[in-house]
Amino acid sequence: MENLSSKRFKRDFVDTFPGDDSGDLHPRQTPGVLYSKARPTPVRKPELVAWSAELADSLGIAKPNPDDIQILGGNLVTPTMYPYAACYAGHQFGNWAGQLGDGRAITLGEWESHHGNTSELQLKGAGPTAYSRRADGRAVLRSSVREYLMSEAMHYLNIPTTRALALVTTGDMVTRDMFYDGRPADEPGAIVMRTAPSFLRFGNFEMLAARNEIDNLTQLVNWTIERFYPHIEGDEKVLHWFGEVVERTATMIVEWLRVGFVHGVMNTDNMSVLGLTIDYGPYSFLDNYDPDFTPNTTDLPGKRYAFGKQANIAYWNLSRLANALVPMISDTGQLESQLRRYEDFYWSKYYAMMANKLGMDGINNEDDVKLVGELTKVLTAIQPDMTIFYQLLIDLPTDLATEEDMLNFFRSSLYGDPEPTDVTQLYAFVTNYQARLRANSCTREDSLLRMRKANPRFILRNYLLHTAIEELQRGENNLFLKLQHALKDPYSKNHDEFFKIRPGWATQQAGCSMLSCSS
Ligand code: AMP
Ligand code: MG
Repeated sequence: MENLSSKRFKRDFVDTFPGDDSGDLHPRQTPGVLYSKARPTPVRKPELVAWSAELADSLGIAKPNPDDIQILGGNLVTPTMYPYAACYAGHQFGNWAGQLGDGRAITLGEWESHHGNTSELQLKGAGPTAYSRRADGRAVLRSSVREYLMSEAMHYLNIPTTRALALVTTGDMVTRDMFYDGRPADEPGAIVMRTAPSFLRFGNFEMLAARNEIDNLTQLVNWTIERFYPHIEGDEKVLHWFGEVVERTATMIVEWLRVGFVHGVMNTDNMSVLGLTIDYGPYSFLDNYDPDFTPNTTDLPGKRYAFGKQANIAYWNLSRLANALVPMISDTGQLESQLRRYEDFYWSKYYAMMANKLGMDGINNEDDVKLVGELTKVLTAIQPDMTIFYQLLIDLPTDLATEEDMLNFFRSSLYGDPEPTDVTQLYAFVTNYQARLRANSCTREDSLLRMRKANPRFILRNYLLHTAIEELQRGENNLFLKLQHALKDPYSKNHDEFFKIRPGWATQQAGCSMLSCSS
């Protein structure tokens, strides 16, 4: 175990690539470089709110001492650190946005653990960088709590994600117009330290291609493969690498669908090239099952990033990455066929996931596919609570004689009275489903085990986060600690005080279902 303040950090990324070493924090375009040096801007009084002890243990990071807390607040940069903001671009809501970059994230260095793997340690909210554009480089407690808890929750749900090591309040206030209605207010500032093997996004590659910096692009692709995809070698390695990014991205999306996660801002600058869930903003879990739900108020006009569109958007985003790789691949037909593999790969993952959620030995034929389709249709019509519905399904009795019996059984997952025709549909599904379960080649125990592993019982609902944040702002951390504890075993029945549908008051309350990007 080593302390943040006494560790020798590695700096392979900055030593490999050209960067702007000036330390100038004024917003500007930075052609020719992959990063710009950015010292965090000191804050008044960093105080530790949360520390991820298990993550720290796995990386070999010792409990924070007073110097470490100064690091977490951006007040101390040790000699082996090289603080920088990465330069990337992206497509936002389908449009080319040009250079974006880390506007409020600063990587301090690469931490090599005792197992020999390295993680970038990054502060989010540590002040302006060359890429802050017109914004302040800061983050408020509200959005920092959301990133901290949710990235950890996703990890414990077994979903690929960046992690959060620490959360500090800064002692400074930050002004935000939370509702974009011209009524800005002061909120407490905070900083999250997050970790990942790399925070590289599709947008890092798009930036270099757009600028026609082909040497930099080639070097970045080769470096990425060498470090993060070391098993890929040979003449066609770029092609194979892209194929693997396609697969990892599809896998991540299927995992989101499994638990009902909506990212909310799937711009290409928020797509990890390692297939990790990254940049937690106005995300949400589904409460009621509505494929058309987007939690992001900015996304409302087109609902581009709605729950049910995520698989298509990921494909579109991958096509943007493919486009960025064209200068490196002479045979674009091959690049296209790697991209097109997405569809088959996605569906096979999707059906394997649905089989697990339903406790089936597989989705083996047309009838099975039809059964999944029936369920999706009736869930969309009735919109029960997704999490509770699947939990109930685990305990589905075999003797539901009537539609009414069945409806009573599912009652605790419902947000309203379903239409009689939808109830009939659900009953038909249940009947077919039970017949299908009897034909399973696996044992009942095995089937139940699959369901319990695939269906979380505790999810970090927006209204819970909202309440925990309000409490924290008043100086109480009771609910925060409970959530921090519960998210560590989301598949157990140990946290059933949270096992209920979203309460009525939270339906219209801002921050409980819809969120703005203001963070
Ligand atoms: P997002 O969609 O939230 O991931 O952010 C899009 C871009 O805006 C990224 O380049 C961010 O770094 C930048 N950004 C967001 N909030 C701020 C902020 N408060 N200060 C500076 N840059 C920001
Ligand atoms: Mg982002």
